[in-house]
Amino acid sequence: MAQTQFVKIDSHAHLTSDELYPHVDQIIERAITQGVKKMVNIATCKETLERGIELAKKYPGIIYNTAATTPHDVETQGESFFPLVQKAAKEEKLVAIGETGLDYYYEHSRRDLQKIFLQRYFELARRSGLNVVIHSRGDDVFNELFRMADEQPVRPKCLLHCFTGKAHHARQAIERGWHISISGIVTFKKSEDLREVVKEIPLEHLQIETDSPYLAPQRKRGQMNEPSYLEEVAEEIARIKGVSLEQVCAETSKNSCSFFQICDNI
Ligand SMILES: [Zn+2]
Repeated sequence: MAQTQFVKIDSHAHLTSDELYPHVDQIIERAITQGVKKMVNIATCKETLERGIELAKKYPGIIYNTAATTPHDVETQGESFFPLVQKAAKEEKLVAIGETGLDYYYEHSRRDLQKIFLQRYFELARRSGLNVVIHSRGDDVFNELFRMADEQPVRPKCLLHCFTGKAHHARQAIERGWHISISGIVTFKKSEDLREVVKEIPLEHLQIETDSPYLAPQRKRGQMNEPSYLEEVAEEIARIKGVSLEQVCAETSKNSCSFFQICDNI
């Protein structure tokens, strides 16, 4: 099969997770070969952040970091990790705050604590001049999320990562000028509803991601996901929207560049 070389950006990968980190150099190499020229590493704890900072040094202009405790883990790690995120933001080692947010679907941590940390991360993002990567699961989280965002003294700009919400949730995000990131879930056979929603989201609001090592796209299902598999997500979006793959790659890259402020050399 002919290899396309459209430049793409993976807006969400856990490159420094225990699963991917042992092979990270080959993983980055393979991604670049597949046109994935920049990857945003999502650090969720002390170790993944330290590794991420090293990785960004080793791959300048290619690897970038965000950090926050996920809503799942705020009960156990929220308090201890927060100062490290603060420090990294202050030292300009982050390109966004996140993934933070609300998860009422799994509810591994108490809802009130999830909200407390989301609020703290909104404040940190504002003070640091950074945008916010949001993890949101459960139909009832969106109202709370939009309400909390709207109550901030300066409205945050957010990226709804791995979006699986309904069309009206997408519309409310778009109204606020937010971005929506689509993962390999869109390629799954059962994702008819999500494909209908993606049809309605204007390209100017879309980003793409792998969420590696999770959620390998349909053709790679069962394997450990990695950024080099990103193109299948872009292909599916192009098919759904009836536009070219080139256009999806170009627009989503532009959006990631502006959202994470990593536009210098693309
Ligand atoms: Zn993630």
